[in-house]
Formats: sequence, structure tokens, C-alpha cells
Amino acid sequence: MVIKPSQIPLPPNWSSSSNKITFKDMDPTKDKVYNGCILEVRILDWAYLSASIHTIIEDENGDIRRFALFNWPLSGEQNADMIKIIKTFCPNVKMLIVNPYHCMIDRGQNIIRVEGPDFIKFDTSKIDKLCHVCGKEAKIRPCSVCKMAFYCSKDCQKIDWREFNHKSICKHLKNFMQI
Ligand SMILES: [Zn+2]
Ligand SMILES: [Zn+2]
Repeated sequence: MVIKPSQIPLPPNWSSSSNKITFKDMDPTKDKVYNGCILEVRILDWAYLSASIHTIIEDENGDIRRFALFNWPLSGEQNADMIKIIKTFCPNVKMLIVNPYHCMIDRGQNIIRVEGPDFIKFDTSKIDKLCHVCGKEAKIRPCSVCKMAFYCSKDCQKIDWREFNHKSICKHLKNFMQI
């Protein structure tokens, strides 16, 4: 996927950015940087790395967007880099994003583009406390194979396994965590 930015956000300035924004406040037809604004989201999916780090995010209204983070520092050691990324961008990590960029890409799709980790504040305190499927309190033991996926119930665990493809992601998570 090629994402060419037509705009560059202002450098992150957390102390002067106070306007809370959600996806509803963003014009879906406009390629626009929302400077001075802070977007609060929850990560819904495991991240993958291509030219940038990709995942899916949800705001407080339950609206969902794709997310791409550029300029993540890579060490060059692929496995170590992947472990760091998987642990940083787990489902249920909360992120505050300053100066979010609603970026239009080809075929009418859009994405929340972030130019670097300095634009994000991470809150990882809920990773093992919320269900990876529905976001409610995690109550049962994590996935016995990867030990990284948390659920409120067996029902949500089944949904993740069958419909959200944890079946195929699980073994990769396990392999990475054993390195
Ligand atoms: Zn659940
Ligand atoms: Zn698993």
C-alpha cells in the first residue's frame, strides 16, 4: 500500500493541544491534519509491519479506522523489532494521538496516519484486563497457546479463534515470544 502524505502535521506539542476529537469530527471526504487536537483510541488488532506499522483502532463512539504509524525506530534485528512492535501495539492498548492526520489514500479509503512515536502516548495498563473481542473485563485464562490473548468468556474466545483469525495469528505470537 502506498500512502503519500500531502500534508505534514505540526510537531507534537502536548501541552498546547487540548481539543479532543473523535472520528465523527473528521470530514471523511477531506485529506486533513487536525493540528492542536488529541484523538483517544483503543487498538483492536495485532499490528503488522510493512513500510509502516499497521493496525485497527476504535474511538470512544465505537467507530473504527485503519491506522498507520511511520518512522518507528527499527534496530535492524527483525525478530527483536517484531517483538517490540507486537508488545507495544497489542489489542486494548490505549493511545492518545496528537495532531492526527486523516489521510485519503487510493480508492476512497482513508487511514489515520501518524508521523512518529512522539505523536502518541501509550497506556498499556489494560492489555491483560480487557477482552480482545468485546473490550469488557477479561475473566477467563488467556489463550493457553500464546498466553497473549485475553477474553471475557469462552464465547468471545471462540469468536476470536474462528472469525477474527486468532487461529493463524496465535502460533506466530507464540513463536515470537519464545525467541
Ligand atoms: Zn468478550
Ligand atoms: Zn493464542
